[in-house]
Amino acid sequence: MMKRNPLVMVPGPTPVARSIQDAMGRETISYNDPRLVADFRVLLDNLASLWKCDGVTFVVAGSGTMAMEMGIVNVASHDDRVLACTNGYFGDRYVDICSRKGFETEVLRAEKWGKSVTVGEIDAKLSEKRFDILVLTHVETSTGVEFPLRDLTKMMRSSHPEVLVVVDGVASMGGVEFYMDWGVDVMLTCSQKCFGISPGLGILWASERAVEKRRSMPPITESYVDFEKWIPVMKDTMKYWGTPAVNMIWALCESVRIIMEEGLENRFRRHRAYSAAIRASLAAMGFETGAAEGVRSPTVTVALYPEGAGLDDNAFRSAVYGEGAHVAGCLGDFAGLGFRIGHMGNIDEHTLISLMASIERACIKCGYKIEPGVGLSVMQRALLEM
Ligand code: PMP
Repeated sequence: MMKRNPLVMVPGPTPVARSIQDAMGRETISYNDPRLVADFRVLLDNLASLWKCDGVTFVVAGSGTMAMEMGIVNVASHDDRVLACTNGYFGDRYVDICSRKGFETEVLRAEKWGKSVTVGEIDAKLSEKRFDILVLTHVETSTGVEFPLRDLTKMMRSSHPEVLVVVDGVASMGGVEFYMDWGVDVMLTCSQKCFGISPGLGILWASERAVEKRRSMPPITESYVDFEKWIPVMKDTMKYWGTPAVNMIWALCESVRIIMEEGLENRFRRHRAYSAAIRASLAAMGFETGAAEGVRSPTVTVALYPEGAGLDDNAFRSAVYGEGAHVAGCLGDFAGLGFRIGHMGNIDEHTLISLMASIERACIKCGYKIEPGVGLSVMQRALLEM
């Protein structure tokens, strides 16, 4: 039998649509070929208008971590105080980046894995003493927790309007509700999550206030990720700083075309509906969700092994892989206790049915006795109701 590649259901990279792969496979031209210059211009304008950005939108080669670094060093100067919230592994990464840059960083940690730092806790901390920057992770990929960003931005507007807000939206942008006019100063993501492209691009939206902040700062020690180096390029795509990733830019153009065709609001709704269906289907098989009720992300789910099922983590994930879906292991406090599913970007009903079917067969093959179809039937009913 011909063996196909397993479905890529890890929390990034996500499945890449044929038309996006074709865009990456085009014959490479120069970054200053008028055709690329024009495509890049349209791309940046679309990214800005879709997410209502009044400042500058950046597309720069690199991974999400590069975008995190770029996001903070351009708005935090050395006498600034940073309040960094962490709900898990990637929140901790932002704490590490802030600390090693030498910013005076205070950490607000979620009460436990699967929960989120609350808006009330942030309000209280910011009222205690002066902070200049607030950093948080919109969707924490290690726990599947969605930070209540809408509520946070409302609170910040009314109680702490002077504090700049930097958000890691790596596992949310393009899948979870958000617009820059909520009052975020830097939002960042990368290509391999909800945009459904191969890894390789960082994308940042900076508010006018963030751009002004950088302008008011002395030269920063970083060069590649300096806003001041990239702003001329983002304003006039003929200009040069570091060679733009030509084929990745085309891939992002195609990804944004797909997003515009679907409509952002429809895309947000689809992610919420799919994630609810996945969780219901997993629950029917006895799995619990790692993220607490009320903060479950539409893009990533941690599924915890049912007690007494006797499922061995490595053996189970290998079995799921063998049955046709690649899911990820857990990190931190959840390590060994479950697996993670990325359900982001350009996936559809077929993807969900195949995913649940692979998980069901893996359960049965690993000796966890469930009725074939117990999870699938829940998924089918959920899809029929959408
Ligand atoms: N932040 C979050 C929330 C992530 O999920 C990831 C990657 N999984 C990163 C940052 C880092 O991105 P990258 O691996 O592309 O550097």
